Amino acid sequence: MVAASETIRGIRFHEGEPAAWLMVRMAEWLGDTVDEFAAKIGFPFAEARRGLRNAELAGLVGKTPEAVAAWTPMEAASGKSILRGQVLRMSWDWVHPTPGLPVQACPTCLRTDLAEGEGPKDQRPFVRAWWCLRDISHCQKHGTYLVGKGRPAPDVDGHRDLDDDPRFWYGLHMAPAVQVPDADRMADLYLLGRLGVVQPTPVPFLDRLDIGEASSVISWLAELATVGTKPLDTRAMTRVDAMRVRSLGLALAKDWPNRINVRLDELLEANEGPRRGPNSVYGRFYTRVYDIRDSKEDHAGRKELREVLWDHAMRRIPFGVGERMYGIETDESERVSVAGAVDIAGVPKCDFLRFAESFGLMEEGVDVRRFGVARSVAEAVRGRLLQR
Ligand SMILES: [Zn+2]
Repeated sequence: MVAASETIRGIRFHEGEPAAWLMVRMAEWLGDTVDEFAAKIGFPFAEARRGLRNAELAGLVGKTPEAVAAWTPMEAASGKSILRGQVLRMSWDWVHPTPGLPVQACPTCLRTDLAEGEGPKDQRPFVRAWWCLRDISHCQKHGTYLVGKGRPAPDVDGHRDLDDDPRFWYGLHMAPAVQVPDADRMADLYLLGRLGVVQPTPVPFLDRLDIGEASSVISWLAELATVGTKPLDTRAMTRVDAMRVRSLGLALAKDWPNRINVRLDELLEANEGPRRGPNSVYGRFYTRVYDIRDSKEDHAGRKELREVLWDHAMRRIPFGVGERMYGIETDESERVSVAGAVDIAGVPKCDFLRFAESFGLMEEGVDVRRFGVARSVAEAVRGRLLQR
């Protein structure tokens, strides 16, 4: 290893900074590429990204290994890392430093770093670990949207002229700080609470899931809460839209599973098309939770959502005899289609409805074409007919 500590002297480590980003700053200070710097200090950059070189990096800035490890994801099982006791899926949940690409950042934090930080001025701004979570879109300290390439907030697009700036913040300190409406901050604050960046807000259903899975579920619920049966890719949206819909999704996860059941009822009421099955009623949400490709069955959140959807379908959706959902028989459903009721009662359709009426079994004001009849009614008609 070079006598790097001498050369790097002046670089200050900051609480909240991940090891890999610290290494990028050191390389920039020396005018090296990350790989050139890695060659000088004797280990590859990839090992810093995996949290395996915290002690060496800490030594270069006169800190304890624990200080650098505190906000550095540590490699755990294959494809996963642990940060603050939370399991992250790498790199689906996390943005590692990539040469030539800036992180998303808070312009006010960067400006404050430049004005008030210690050490060489252009090395004062540093990356906070919580900016590296892919689904985080705002600064909890200043209440404003993060900025950066990829997902611009309004008014901060068009900073491409600053791209010649080689530093990781790429002139983002000059971007305007745009305030986020309080209601739209909720999904971000939930995740930040899990990491201990802010006070935690317990949401029992989500708290049972790994943080990355919980964040995916928030996006699925955002889809359900807004476009309902259609697909919505929150990561392709602007931060403004993503924060708004994801916070609506988070709201559905509260009071579990009552709010989601209310929303599923709404989808059922709105479904007036010719097709009646669960796939048609729940649309995209059905295929989200019933995804048996690859290892997606293992997703704990998906499994719980599938059970909620199943319970709702068994209470509200009319099935025909022998009809399946998730490939499972639906003979425990509370409602059956008219065709299913006819099969159970063993009489022609015109007779079934007439008998059910005359026995006083039909529910008042229910559109049987859309909502079917109670299975108990079909069975009662059959019972009465057998007695005659
Ligand atoms: Zn900030």
